[in-house]
Amino acid sequence: MSEYTGDANFGCFDENTFYREARKYLDNTPGTKQGFALYAMEIENFRIYNLWHGREAGHAYVAGYAGRLKSYAEKEGGVIGCFGDSHFAYLVPEKEDRVNELQAYLNEWHKSKEESAGFHPMIGIYHIDDVSLDVETMYDRAALALDGVRGNYAMRIMHYNPDMDKELDEEIVMLSDIRRGLKEHEFTFYLQPKCDMRTGEILGAEALVRWIHKEQGLVPPGKFIPILEKSGFTVIVDQVVWEDVIAWQRKWIDAGKKPLPVSVNISKTDLFAINVPDVLIGLCAKYNVPHHLVELEITESAYAEHFEEMKDVIGELKQAGFPMLMDDFGTGYSSLNMLKRIDFDILKFDMKFLRGSEEDRQRGIEILESVVNMARLLIVPVIIEGVETQDQVEYLTGMGCRYAQGYFYYKPMPIADFEELIADGSNVNYDGYVSKRVEQIHMREFLEDMPATEMMINNMMGPVGFYDLYEDHIEIIRVNEPYYKLFGEGASQSLTVIREHTTPEDYEYIKELMAKAEDAPMKGAVGTFHYRKGDGKALPVLFRVFFLHEKNGHKRFYGSVTDLSMLGKM
Ligand code: C2E
Ligand code: CA
Ligand code: CA
Repeated sequence: MSEYTGDANFGCFDENTFYREARKYLDNTPGTKQGFALYAMEIENFRIYNLWHGREAGHAYVAGYAGRLKSYAEKEGGVIGCFGDSHFAYLVPEKEDRVNELQAYLNEWHKSKEESAGFHPMIGIYHIDDVSLDVETMYDRAALALDGVRGNYAMRIMHYNPDMDKELDEEIVMLSDIRRGLKEHEFTFYLQPKCDMRTGEILGAEALVRWIHKEQGLVPPGKFIPILEKSGFTVIVDQVVWEDVIAWQRKWIDAGKKPLPVSVNISKTDLFAINVPDVLIGLCAKYNVPHHLVELEITESAYAEHFEEMKDVIGELKQAGFPMLMDDFGTGYSSLNMLKRIDFDILKFDMKFLRGSEEDRQRGIEILESVVNMARLLIVPVIIEGVETQDQVEYLTGMGCRYAQGYFYYKPMPIADFEELIADGSNVNYDGYVSKRVEQIHMREFLEDMPATEMMINNMMGPVGFYDLYEDHIEIIRVNEPYYKLFGEGASQSLTVIREHTTPEDYEYIKELMAKAEDAPMKGAVGTFHYRKGDGKALPVLFRVFFLHEKNGHKRFYGSVTDLSMLGKM
């Protein structure tokens, strides 16, 4: 333990003394060319550090940090204050690259400490342009800049600028309005059903907070949750939602109805602010609601940042019998390895990650496929969120997904509407989500696992090719052996130029099919036409085509053809 043990200020000035001493320092120190700056510093997530390593270790950690700061100030001058916990203020003569030098000096020490990852200091800087300003205001400005880096692990330093005051004003207005709204019971939740895509049956719902503002009407969470998260106040709203949801479950059971699991959202800042397991267990006890009816959704990014800590809280919640859902899975950095180490009951993937540019879509599909594969390996069910169209349902069920939540089924709805929806239970499935290991053949797995030769695969797939459509011109760029066998025989003209093998009408028709395929990327398009072989014979074929991607005006398609001549005359 360090020499500062027992000293709440770790041998630095306490807040009031700091303001006094800093004033004296400014008044009595001849200004350097670059003037002075006030740094506000904080060890982010320090409460977590205490929680996981104990208060004593936490104290030693801050003491070490304070010692390092003091030894820096001894060399470089300035005044250091410690405002309790993990907050520091440093009035320092400015010089070129000052903050980077200080940070490097602190990091040297951090690196030598075990388990310091995620507990590095953040720094907000107010460059003192007006020395007559009172030091409290200077510190407030530096602290405001500090708030700008909170939660941003890529950027640990920020300078104050006057716009921050304006932003803060707006946020403060919003926060007070939220507090007022909470007092006046303006917050409620909507319920969005989760469905089985194969039957359309409802298995549960997600509770989504809604603010019914007395003047502004319905305020969506996107408008206020981010502001709450920034300031760490999400918990004041979340606790209300959790309690309301649990109370609603009780009411539903008391009405003699069969209950369904409802999930609530937990923000990662909640986990830092309160003891979430204690609170939830307490609420369930208060309303006598079994834990398995309260599912908990936590976004994936929360785990990625504080893996070890999250793992413990999640373990605790799971141990208590709350089903754990990983929200927005696939957006962060989770790996199969991490999934194996944290025990989730359900993974949620959001279709919104498939929106955007072609590149985004392609990447989204790859992620979705790997999510589904991981889930299958772990035998964990997946719920796909944001399902909006029939095409998506077909594509998703085709790849083995079973559960969905999205506008295609239901939008989030007021509690009364949900009650009406499930009242007679005919459209409800009370069996819960299941995951079977292998229900059907999944192509990717199939191809990977099967020691098939190219010839075997060719025989299974039949004739296939890749097509390029550029302006009005369709060209075949690659074909497999069966394709060549079917059409190549007796080829006197170029095999690759489609126009030379069809009538003008059929050629237009093929382009129409391609346009259709482009509009329905999941389903593709299918039609028949005649292919004129090199020897002049016209072969009836069934053509199934899928759009792949577009680059520089070139649209790429994948197509399979089936020889229909065996079926007799068309
Ligand atoms: P989330 O947890 O990922 O919730 C899903 C969001 O997707 C909801 O938006 C829902 O209305 C929307 N959604 C569902 N199906 C579709 C669809 O087919 N298409 C489209 N375009 N959107 C769909 P909402 O209700 O606006 O909530 C947004 C986010 O706010 C939530 O994302 C969640 O992160 C947060 N949130 C909502 N309620 C709470 C809460 O009680 N506590 C906390 N901490 N966060 C909440
Ligand atoms: Ca959610
Ligand atoms: Ca989500």
